[in-house]
Formats: sequence, C-alpha cells, structure tokens
Amino acid sequence: MLAEIITIGDELLIGQVVDTNSAFIAKQLNKIGVSVYQITSIQDDKEHILQALEDAENRVDIVICTGGLGPTKDDITKKTIAEYFNDTLVKNESVLQNIENIWKQHVRTELLQVNRDQALIPSKSKPLMNRLGTAPGMWLDKDEKVFISLPGVPYEMKALIDGEVIPGIKNKYNCPFILHKTMIVYGLGESALAARIEVWEDALPKHIKLAYLPNLGKMRLRLSTKGYDEVQLKQDVQDQINKVIPFIEKEYAGLEDEDGSVEMVIAKQLTKLGHTLAIAESCTGGAVAERFTTHSGASAFFKGGLVTYSTESKINVLKVSKADIDTFSVVSSQVAEAMAKNAQQLFQSDYAIATTGNAGPTKGDSNAEVGTVFIAIANKTEVYSQEFNFGNSRLKVINKAVNKALEMMLKEIFKN
Ligand code: ATP
Ligand code: MG
Repeated sequence: MLAEIITIGDELLIGQVVDTNSAFIAKQLNKIGVSVYQITSIQDDKEHILQALEDAENRVDIVICTGGLGPTKDDITKKTIAEYFNDTLVKNESVLQNIENIWKQHVRTELLQVNRDQALIPSKSKPLMNRLGTAPGMWLDKDEKVFISLPGVPYEMKALIDGEVIPGIKNKYNCPFILHKTMIVYGLGESALAARIEVWEDALPKHIKLAYLPNLGKMRLRLSTKGYDEVQLKQDVQDQINKVIPFIEKEYAGLEDEDGSVEMVIAKQLTKLGHTLAIAESCTGGAVAERFTTHSGASAFFKGGLVTYSTESKINVLKVSKADIDTFSVVSSQVAEAMAKNAQQLFQSDYAIATTGNAGPTKGDSNAEVGTVFIAIANKTEVYSQEFNFGNSRLKVINKAVNKALEMMLKEIFKN
C-alpha cells in the first residue's frame, strides 16, 4: 500500500512555514503499514494542484492533501479537487451545522457568507467532520484509490488523521503490521558500531531491516519489519535485540521511548526508583532542564535548576569558591564539579548535573578555547567530570553539550 502526501501552501515554498504536517502524517501511516512513496509541496495554484493530483494518482493508492482550505483565497483546493473529479460543489448540511456550532461557541460575531461556503464540498465526497475548525476534511473514493483533503492547520489536521483518516484506511484496505524498535547506543561512532555488530548484522533474517541513525554523540539502531503476523514479528525483533546486546553491552542504553527521547528513559528510571535530580547550568543556559520539563511528570523527580551564567552568580548563588575560579578558571573541571556538588546539596537531590563551558563565538570569562565544555555529575557520595570540545558553532556546542550531559546522566543511573 503506497501513499503520497501533498502539502499545499505558498508559505511552505518560501520557507515561512516548515512543513510539519507531512512528517506527522507519514508517521501515522507507517504505523498501519502504509508506506509513503513521495512527499510533495506545492503552491496555492490550480494548475499546480491538478498536475500534482494526476502525478500522484499514477504512483500511489492513497493521496492525502493538506492546506488551501481556508475561507480566503477562494477555497482553491476544494474547487480544484471538484474539477479534477468532474464534480460540482454542493452544500453539506452536517458540515454547515458544525460551522454554525463553532461560530456560536467560539466566535459569536455574525456568520459570514465565506464561512457558510466552507460547507460546500464535492458531491462525490464524504465529509470528514472537523470539530476544531470550520474547514471540513474530504474523502473521495476512486475505484481502489482514495483521495483525502485536510485543512492545513496542524492540530485540526492531526485530529482528522487520527479520528477519521487512519480508521478509514484500515477499514478500506487490509494493512500489514509495521514494527520499528530503536536501540540507543552511546560512545561508539557509526563505523565502530558497524564493526562491532557485523557478525550479528550479517545473520539478520531477511524480513528485518536495520538502519543506523547517528545524532550528535549518540547512535540509534533501528530494527524494522512488516507483515501480517503481529505476535510473531514482535517476537522476531525482540530475539534480534537480545542477540545484539552482548556485542554492545557497555554502550547500550536501552530502547528508545515512543517519543524518542533519552531524557524520558532517565525520567522513567528516576521516577521508578524515587530518586531526584537537580541541575546547575552555565553555557547551556537552561537547555538541559528544559529537556526534562517539556515532558509532563517531571515534578516527580526534578527538584530544580539554576542558570548561573555569570562568574559572580556561580560564586554568590552556587557558592563555588572564588579561589578555585581564580586558580583553575571558570571553565574547568574543578568549577563544573563544585557546581554539581553544590547544586546536589542545595536542592537536596540524589543527583545533579552541571555544565560550564565556552560556546563562542568569542571567549568569555575564561581563556578556554571556544567549544570547550566541562560536564559534571554528582551523586550523594561522589562527583566527577569530563572535558569536551564541541567545535565552534554556538548552537551546535550547546546542543552537543546537552546531549552529552544527558548521556552521562543516563550512564550514571544505570551504573549499578
Ligand atoms: P488558504 O490557503 O485557502 O488561504 P489557509 O492558508 O488559511 O487557507 P490552510 O492552507 O489550511 O489555510 O493553512 C492554515 C494554517 O496551517 C496556515 O497558518 C499554515 O501556515 C499552516 N499550515 C499549512 N500547511 C502546513 C504544513 N504542511 N505544515 C505546517 N503548517 C501548515
Ligand atoms: Mg494555505
């Protein structure tokens, strides 16, 4: 089963809006065994849309469009779809009802004709009710193929994909089961990892595919498979995971969480053990803490963090000794370790992470080379640190430092 996603909007082609809709739709389709063959972004333009629909129809079974359904710009997508199917637009009473309801509940001004016209849909289409907005989704069957058009507003599109489109596709086609499992591996580059697991990789069964996904200091190994026997496939993949672990015993950090984050692995483990964390940051400016607090449930283990950006606040707030700073400089293992130790005590936590470094582009309060970062981890009895150089691009230095800090923390909590 193949699909194509067509995102419509001038804003996408001038780089004003990043097309996040396709990524979401592709992910959801993948979960039900539909492979995305192509993603196409086009202008709000009739000829362009007609051409894209025709091309897609020749390539795939399922065509999903988003965007161009707003009340402005003449409802370009809807009119064009009607034209493509030699169809006319007719008023749909239930869609009009939905628009009137939304208006009553949230808008309260007079309902304009342009909004009433949003209830017009191609006569051959089935409306996909958009409870979150006035632009309806549309579903059109053409023999064994299906064309779906959705509003571009991401949260409206998402609700329609999950609530209507995915169930509809599962219903229409006999979709295979697709499984991805991603293993997180730290401390090995791509080629070193490949060499380490070569024997295992060569013996992988044909129906299990392997992908290496490197990302700033960590590697992810994704095993994918697809077929109709869900129980067997799950077992096959688990067997292979069990087989490869002995080759990467030390470096393997666990399976990636559904949402793909290391911090969630740490969060779960801390919560499970009833342990707590504090953070003292300098060059990362709160980015380590933010990685934890974007997920709900952080209050179970995260006691708090301090961004002591200036030398003065490292001394006054975190009580780092001025003598140490004078002797070793503010970017040093001694200062990183003092920051971690003091944060752990200040917050009365089980663990603390600290970062101090120079993200550049110019040297700050120390003579350390641009890109130098010290990261320290403290627990209740000991503290240690590591020195890194993450290059000379400011944002890269910060991101790499955050990933490295999370990696060190992950290793720390899985140490015993
Ligand atoms: P029209 O194009 O008919 O004027 P509109 O632009 O108001 O309508 P949509 O095209 O449905 O309505 O887009 C609504 C909003 O969703 C816009 O703010 C747009 O930036 C955003 N959007 C559209 N397509 C995408 C996409 N592929 N990824 C992320 N956001 C998108
Ligand atoms: Mg648009």
